[in-house]
Amino acid sequence: MQILRKTNLEALDKAMELGPDNVIKLLEEKGLVGRGGAAFPTAKKWKTTKDTISDKKYVICNADEGEPGTFKDRFIMMYNPQTMIEGMLIAAYTVGAKECFIYLRGEYSYLLPRLQEHVDIVLDASGLDVSIEIVRGAGAYVCGEETALIESIMGNRGQPRYKPPIPSIAGLWNKPTVVNNVETLTCAAQAILYDDWNKDLRLFSISGNVSNPGVYELPLGVKMSTIIDIARPKRKLKAMSFGAFGGIMPIDENLVVNEETIMSANCHHGAYSVILIDESVNVVEVCDSIARFYTYESCGKCTPCREGNKRILDLIKKVMAGEATNEDLDLMNELAQHIMDTSLCGLGQTSGQHIVTALKYFRSDFEKYLKKSNS
Ligand code: SF4
Repeated sequence: MQILRKTNLEALDKAMELGPDNVIKLLEEKGLVGRGGAAFPTAKKWKTTKDTISDKKYVICNADEGEPGTFKDRFIMMYNPQTMIEGMLIAAYTVGAKECFIYLRGEYSYLLPRLQEHVDIVLDASGLDVSIEIVRGAGAYVCGEETALIESIMGNRGQPRYKPPIPSIAGLWNKPTVVNNVETLTCAAQAILYDDWNKDLRLFSISGNVSNPGVYELPLGVKMSTIIDIARPKRKLKAMSFGAFGGIMPIDENLVVNEETIMSANCHHGAYSVILIDESVNVVEVCDSIARFYTYESCGKCTPCREGNKRILDLIKKVMAGEATNEDLDLMNELAQHIMDTSLCGLGQTSGQHIVTALKYFRSDFEKYLKKSNS
């Protein structure tokens, strides 16, 4: 697997030979984009922080991977943490930061001792005058959002900030801050060192009622039939969900999996988490599970997400109790769209995606529950 290639501090040496401007130019040429879901160009992010004048700058590794169905960053931290740490040091060198943080998902605290060991080894071997502190999250999904994560490191409640300013200009303690996720930083080191680094390889987290769940490295453009062959579903498949926030679409063995095809089905690829759903499952049950997740994880800062997701859950309960009408389904669709249009951060802005896509593709699953007089 490309993601497991070690760089053994040679990428850092090469970065220091190239100098900050050429590192940024190289990452731009290599086409590295953020692997946390937003796909923002890494070179652009680093350049903004590098070019912002400040007495202090920071680099943060976002290891708060908390979306249901996503577990690829954990895989990297288990099997190639040294390259991720080297990627942080390269980012720090490039933007002029002396202090770095790894924000580790609370549920991943069992990784901490080994991660700390690797931080000490890599830092010591690098000879750089840079610190890396590991901060443990407390289990809030919203802290995967970069500004909420920054607030959490600062000791504040983990709630997103209004933007602008963006963290690259005013982040941690209002200083320019690079926030990249685990996979992005690992890829940064590999892209700098290896001429044959392939930007189109992605880590897919595959789960569901399948015999072979796991993390697989596959090229963008892979056919869905290949993913299904790898996963080995236990029953006939019906649907696929792209994590919690990417939406649910009918299974299509001929689908060429890439950003364009997924988005043309009104879904979002996110971090390429694929949850395979078989015919034994009613999609309403999937929506119920995701809606409970969003209701629990909403940080409460803005009204559409805080109140709207509760109303969505109420409507799903009404459907499952056999009390809902077709008008309730239309209301749920409208409400989900409204929450996404008006919420402050990515959590709320994607929280209705499962409802909108489930009602678009699997309305008949909802209709099975409707009040008999109205169905
Ligand atoms: S969208 Fe939800 S999670 Fe984001 S700030 Fe608003 S209430 Fe908090």
